[in-house]
Amino acid sequence: MAVLTRYGTSTQETYAYSLVDHLNWLHVNNRSPDTIAFDDLRRYMNGATGQADGVYGLAWRRPDQKPLGTSAAGNVATVVKAYYLSLQASGNVRADLIEALTSGRSFTRHGRAGRTVESNPLAPHTGSRRPRFLPDEVVQALFEPGVLTTARDVMIVTWLHDGGLRVGGLCGLRFCDLHLIRHHPCGQRADPHVHVVGRDDNPNGA
Ligand SMILES: [Zn+2]
Repeated sequence: MAVLTRYGTSTQETYAYSLVDHLNWLHVNNRSPDTIAFDDLRRYMNGATGQADGVYGLAWRRPDQKPLGTSAAGNVATVVKAYYLSLQASGNVRADLIEALTSGRSFTRHGRAGRTVESNPLAPHTGSRRPRFLPDEVVQALFEPGVLTTARDVMIVTWLHDGGLRVGGLCGLRFCDLHLIRHHPCGQRADPHVHVVGRDDNPNGA
């Protein structure tokens, strides 16, 4: 399908499954793409991620299919948006849907090529409270020349990535928490380590 040809092979496969899920939903609910409004897509996304408040339309997923996680839902959001935008040329899509899908601000992601990334209103919101981890390729991009310009920044990214520290934990570190020698007299570990200590008197509020 033409929608998928712009992606690499393995991505195509992922997106193909996502697109099939959406086409199944259209089919089971007897809807054709040209009648779909933005709210319909939002309900579809909520259904796929298990966030539907009530029953909307007919079940299109097998009972043994688990709701999508954030990353899979992001893939679905990407390909569903691409699918409806691809229908624009033939006119088989509502104009207000196209507008809703494309009205979001696009932003420039700094780093590798400074490419512009369009925001997708269908994409799941990622809760800021759960820990999130950067994919390896993002970390790699951060370490490309000219991105991190000070030793401090290199250390921050290295510690967050290699040490698995949370931002709050890192910001709350004090010099006395750094036991960066083997067999530190604290006796808690033989390896060099740091202690993440909860405090309520950090000047930076960490
Ligand atoms: Zn220690």
